[in-house]
Amino acid sequence: MAGLTLRALRKTYGALEVINGVDLDIEHGQFVVFVGPSGCGKSTLLRMIAGLEEISGGDLFIGEKHCNDVEPRDRGIAMVFQSYALYPHMTVYDNVGFGLKLARTPTAERDRKIREAARILQMEHLLKRKPSQLSGGQRQRVAIGRAIVRKPEVFLFDEPLSNLDAALRVDMRMELARLHHDLGATMIYVTHDQVEAMTLADKIVVLNGGVVQQVGSPIELYQRPANLFVAGFIGSPK
Ligand code: ADP
Ligand code: MG
Repeated sequence: MAGLTLRALRKTYGALEVINGVDLDIEHGQFVVFVGPSGCGKSTLLRMIAGLEEISGGDLFIGEKHCNDVEPRDRGIAMVFQSYALYPHMTVYDNVGFGLKLARTPTAERDRKIREAARILQMEHLLKRKPSQLSGGQRQRVAIGRAIVRKPEVFLFDEPLSNLDAALRVDMRMELARLHHDLGATMIYVTHDQVEAMTLADKIVVLNGGVVQQVGSPIELYQRPANLFVAGFIGSPK
């Protein structure tokens, strides 16, 4: 399993500073939530960790490995997107196994991993369906299944529940907490929803304007917000 170390990470688009010197230590197995208002840089920071955005400055370590220039597929991570990004013409079975097929995983092993992911996510009965025959929550489960089969050390989630209705969001939150418990992997989860952050996180990272405002457990942030921004955002009485 792998933790992560971010040192003075920066991302610029031309003159625009989007991530402005982020230092962070994430222990392996932790559930870490990046929270902050829209446009504060949460997705950019996650995509830098995933290898989907070039790093403009600083250092990224996944486990012991310096990863600034490592290809996404060699980072031991899997990312789950808000939009699910499923292939509409493929069955659930094929969607979940697609990455394994690309990696030329032998058929029998692929089958075993797909069925194991389906069991973990309680969607064995959905394997023959196409995405159009699934509810929003089921689609999101398929997207998570696609990440699970790759046995990543680190899962990255970018607002995975924001397209779901409120009741389903609560169910899926509990499911994610269970998944974290069962898999024991490191999870980094981006949301703009304070409640989601407070209920899921071992550790919350509050971002604003590409700068870390505070890092702490939900209770620490609630009881001792570092500044007015954190207090206002987390909604504590201070
Ligand atoms: P969040 O996920 O917290 O809503 P983002 O990481 O998507 O925020 O964006 C952070 C900032 O970076 C925003 O101001 C956004 O407009 C800017 N940004 C993101 N991607 C690009 C890009 N490809 N080119 C220029 N600016 C970008
Ligand atoms: Mg975003």
